[in-house]
Amino acid sequence: MLHLTDFIRWMALRDVSPDLAVAQFRELRKQVPLLYALLSVNAVAVAYTHLNHAPDWMTIWIPLVLVSASVIRMFAWLRHSESPIDAREAIRQLRRTALVGSVLAVAYISWALNLSRYGGDHEQAHVAIFIAITVIGCIFCLMPLPQAALAITGIVIAPSLYYYLSIGDTVYAAIGINMALVTIVIIRVVIIGYKAFVRLVRARSELDRLNREVTLLANTDPLTAIPNRRHFFTELAHSIENARSEGSDFAVGVIDLDRFKSINDAMGHLFGDRLLQAVAVRLQPLVQTGGLFARLGGDEFAFQISASAEEATKLANTLCEELSKPYQVGDKTVSVGATCGLAVLSVVGESTSIYDAADYALYNGKTDRRGFTTLYAASHEEQIRSERAIESALQSADLNNEMDIHFQPIMNRVGGVCAVEALARWTSPTVGSIRPDVFIPLAEKTGIVHRLTLALFNKSLRAAEMLPADIKLSFNLSAHDLTSSETVLGLIALIRHSEMPPSRIVLELTETALMRNFEAAEDGILLLRRLGVEIALDDFGTGYSSLGYLQRLPIDKVKIDRCFIKDTGTSTGRDLLAAIIALCSKMKIGCIAEGVEEVEQLNTLIDLGCEGFQGYFYSKPLPPQEFFAWLAGRQRKLSVTEPPTIKVRGLMTEIVDRLPAQSLVF
Ligand code: C2E
Ligand code: CA
Ligand code: CA
Repeated sequence: MLHLTDFIRWMALRDVSPDLAVAQFRELRKQVPLLYALLSVNAVAVAYTHLNHAPDWMTIWIPLVLVSASVIRMFAWLRHSESPIDAREAIRQLRRTALVGSVLAVAYISWALNLSRYGGDHEQAHVAIFIAITVIGCIFCLMPLPQAALAITGIVIAPSLYYYLSIGDTVYAAIGINMALVTIVIIRVVIIGYKAFVRLVRARSELDRLNREVTLLANTDPLTAIPNRRHFFTELAHSIENARSEGSDFAVGVIDLDRFKSINDAMGHLFGDRLLQAVAVRLQPLVQTGGLFARLGGDEFAFQISASAEEATKLANTLCEELSKPYQVGDKTVSVGATCGLAVLSVVGESTSIYDAADYALYNGKTDRRGFTTLYAASHEEQIRSERAIESALQSADLNNEMDIHFQPIMNRVGGVCAVEALARWTSPTVGSIRPDVFIPLAEKTGIVHRLTLALFNKSLRAAEMLPADIKLSFNLSAHDLTSSETVLGLIALIRHSEMPPSRIVLELTETALMRNFEAAEDGILLLRRLGVEIALDDFGTGYSSLGYLQRLPIDKVKIDRCFIKDTGTSTGRDLLAAIIALCSKMKIGCIAEGVEEVEQLNTLIDLGCEGFQGYFYSKPLPPQEFFAWLAGRQRKLSVTEPPTIKVRGLMTEIVDRLPAQSLVF
C-alpha cells in the first residue's frame, strides 16, 4: 500500500526537489523537440503508406491534426530553449510535459491501431514498426522524466499488446509480446539511468552549496563577520569597471582607528578583538547607504560606494564621528578615534589605484588631520609621482658613491665630545639631495635597506676610526635591520673587521624597530650586546610603550626626543623631563637630550641632571672632514680658555649663565 502511494506521488512529481526539477527541465528541453520531430516524421510516413488503403480522414485529416499539435509543441519547447527557469516553473513544465505527452500518446495509439485495420500485410507491419520505434524513441527522449516515459509506454503498449494478441495471428502476437518485453527492459534501463542522474544532480547541488559556503567564508572576516579584504578588492575591480562604463563617480574610503594599538597592548588582545567587533557593528547601519564595508586587517576598515566626492566626504565624516563615540566593552568604556582617507575615481590619475590613493590620503591625514577625513587631491598625485621618482632613483643608486655620512657631536655634562652620531646623507644625480627621514622609509619599503645599512655602517666605521679613542660612534638602525638575521650578522662582521672596539659603538633603535617583531629584535639585540656594543633607545617618549621596552630589554641609553626639549620653558615640560631623567637614573640608564638648540634649554637640562646633549646649539651634522676641523678648533679653544671641568650642577649653571651664547664652548 505504502509502495503504491509512493509510486503515485512519484508519478505525480510530488516530491521532486527544486534542484532536480530544474536539472530535469534543462535536459528535457534539449530532447523533447527531437521527440516531436521523430513523432511527426513517423506519423507522416505511416499516413503516406496508407494513402490508398484507408479513408482520407484517417490518412490526411487526423494525421494533420496530430502532426500540427506535435509541431506546435516542438516550437513551444524550442522557444524556451535558453531562458533561465526557476524551480516552481520547472515543476509546472514537467507535469505539463507528462500530461500533454499522455494525451498525445492516447491520440496517436488510437489512430495507429485504427489504421492497422486497413491495407495489407505490409501496411499492417508498417504500423507495428511505427508503434515500436516511436515508443522506443519517445522513451529515450524522455529519459530525464521517466514518469512521462512510463505513462506513455503504458498508454501505448497495453492497447497494442491487447490488439495484436486479439487479432489471432501468431506473428502479430509475437510482435506485440516482443514490443512489450523490449519496452519493459528499456524502461528498466531508463530508470537506472535516471537514478544515476538524480545522484549526480544531488552531488552537484551539494557541491554548489559547499562552494557557496566556502566562498562566503573566504570572503568574510571571521572576527567581525563583515566582508574581508579579499571580497573588498574583488568587488572593487567590478565596481570600478561599472563606474567607468557608466561614467559615474565612485569613492573608496580607508579608515584607520587611532590609539587602537595602545588599547590592544594595554588591555590585551581579547579586549582588542571585542572592540573591533563593536566597531564593525557600528558600520552595519551605514551599509544601508548602498556601500560595501569591509575589514582589511588589523584596525583598518574600508568602504566603497557609488557616490560623488561631496556625498562620500559626508559619509566618511559621519563614519569618523560614529566610530569615535565611546564603546562599552564588557564593564569598560573606551574610545578610539577614526581617521579616514578618501579618494574618488574622477580625481585619481590613471597611474594610481583608487585604493592606493585613499590609503595615501589616510597616511597624510594621520599626520595632520587625525580624527577627520582627508580627500585625495590632485596635489597628492604630484607628491606620489615625486616619491616614485625618489624610489626608483634609490633602487638604482650606487650606494658607495651617492651615500655619505655626517657626524653630529654628542656632548657630556662637562662639555666634552663623548660621541658622534652618524647621520646618512644621499645626493642622487637624478633627484638631488634627499633627507634621510624620506629615503630610509623608502629603502625599507623597497627592500634595499639591508644593503644600505651595511654600506652606511661601513662608511661610518671607516670615518670613526680617525676619531680620538674616547669618542664613541652612534649609528642608527632601521626598523627592518634588527629583525633580519642577515643584517645583524653583517653588522657583526663589519665590527669584527674594524679597528673600532665594540665598546665604542652605540646602536640606536627606535620603538618601531622593536614593535615590528619583538622576539626577533630581542635576539638581535642580545647578539650585538654580547659583542660589547651599547644599545640606545632613540626618539624616546614619542611612541606608546617606550617605558615598557626599558624594562624588557638591556638598554644602555635613551635619547629623549627633541619634542620634549622644546618644552623646557614650561613647567609641565620641565616636570616631564625631570621624570624621564629621574627614571633613567633610577634604572641606571644613561640619557641624552636631542635637539638642544638654545642655551636656556641646555641650562634646564643640566639642572635636571641630564647626562648628554646633542643639537644645533653645538653643531649641525657635518661631513667627517669638517667635523674633524670643528673638533680640532674646539680643542684649541679649550686649551686656551682652560674650561672648567666641574661636575657640580650649581657651579656649571652659573658659568653657563654668565657667558654669552656664542662663546659658550665647553
Ligand atoms: P634621528 O636619529 O632622531 O637623528 C637626529 C635628527 O635630528 C637628525 O636629522 C639631525 O640632523 C636632527 N637634529 C640634530 N640636532 C638638531 C637640532 O638641534 N634641531 C633640530 N631641529 N634637528 C636636529 P636627520 O639627519 O635629517 O635624520 C633624520 C632621521 O633619519 C634620523 O633621526 C634617523 O631616524 C634617520 N636616519 C639618519 N641617518 C640614518 C641612518 O644612517 N640609518 C637609519 N636607519 N636612519 C637614519
Ligand atoms: Ca638617532
Ligand atoms: Ca632621535
